[in-house]
Amino acid sequence: MPRTLITGGAGFLGSHLCDRFIAEGHEVLCMDNLITGNPDNIAHLFERDDERFTFIKHDVTNYIHVGGDLDYVLHFASPASPIDYLKLPIQTLKVGALGTHKALGLAKAKNARFLLASTSEVYGDPQTHPQKETYWGNVNPIGPRGVYDEAKRFAEAITMAYNRYHGVETRIVRIFNTYGPRMRIDDGRALPTFMSQALRGDPLTVYGDGSQTRSFQYVDDLVEGIYRLLMSSVEEPVNIGNPDEITIKEFAEEIIRLTGSSSTITYEELPKDDPQVRQPDITRARERLQWAPAVDRAEGLARTLDYFRSAVPTSDTASVSS
Ligand code: NAD
Ligand code: UDP
Repeated sequence: MPRTLITGGAGFLGSHLCDRFIAEGHEVLCMDNLITGNPDNIAHLFERDDERFTFIKHDVTNYIHVGGDLDYVLHFASPASPIDYLKLPIQTLKVGALGTHKALGLAKAKNARFLLASTSEVYGDPQTHPQKETYWGNVNPIGPRGVYDEAKRFAEAITMAYNRYHGVETRIVRIFNTYGPRMRIDDGRALPTFMSQALRGDPLTVYGDGSQTRSFQYVDDLVEGIYRLLMSSVEEPVNIGNPDEITIKEFAEEIIRLTGSSSTITYEELPKDDPQVRQPDITRARERLQWAPAVDRAEGLARTLDYFRSAVPTSDTASVSS
């Protein structure tokens, strides 16, 4: 039975990966310090009383000890939403740098294959569109987002160094905006914020004039892409995202329609260095992994809304619970 360590496994994406690797017949070790994660995301795996699932509370910026063999190490630990990494700048830099170093050291010691969760943020505010993996990016190192972007760029560099100098088998996934059930409702990202606001009947807070674009992918598509990449022989970074691009204003309007809300839109100041456009070029994933997204936004948003309806306290649910 393959044995797989997932750092950040109690987070949004990590918990979906735990599910997938358990379903694939792996023994899964989920390691997390819960700084932005939530044990509820993995509670169902405990309830199965399955000896193939173990949770280890640990900060991966410190030495990681795991007894026994390991076949795969997936390094997903890191604050990931802009408000999280603005609140936790040093932790974000440390987990991207020291945490990646420790996770790579573990992979080397166990002769395990290592996969790094990188991000479209390595392209910064991109000057080419859509973004191909060959683009080197346009990042402000000293801006507020620099703590995340540069940590991930360092993480990619040290991953390639372990690959070239220590012969560790490595994979790098550059993840574009991903959404789905188990997102924290208050993580400040566009989708959880808009859905929560729409369900409460509050105005949706669009930053800037809302003309900036993003391309949103449903979490199941990402998990499939990551699984294929891990099992492939592709050592170059691979973009995994849905190229269906939309402006943030249109996205807010779409969520108002979908929820049937009477909310309006208010405009607030655009955060510094907010990328103007973002769309993955997924030619490499198509050709090398035979991967393409399968869930369109209408379907993905409908599935996600079911989760938000149960997760967001509205005045109705508040009065029931009080
Ligand atoms: P998340 O905040 O839900 O999950 C991150 C997890 O890492 C949390 O459970 C947190 O407690 C844990 N963690 C953070 N620092 C840690 C440390 N020092 N030691 C141990 N655990 C630690 O975020 P997410 O959206 O699930 O993102 C997961 C990964 O995917 C991150 O590396 C992020 O950079 C990357 N990513 C996510 C997206 C996206 O759209 N969600 C896009 C690009 C990249
Ligand atoms: N955004 C917004 N209102 C919000 C939250 C986010 O207009 O309440 C915008 C944000 O400025 C960015 C886009 O939505 O242009 C996506 O933001 P998110 O935080 O989801 O992810 P990013 O891609 O910026 O990391």
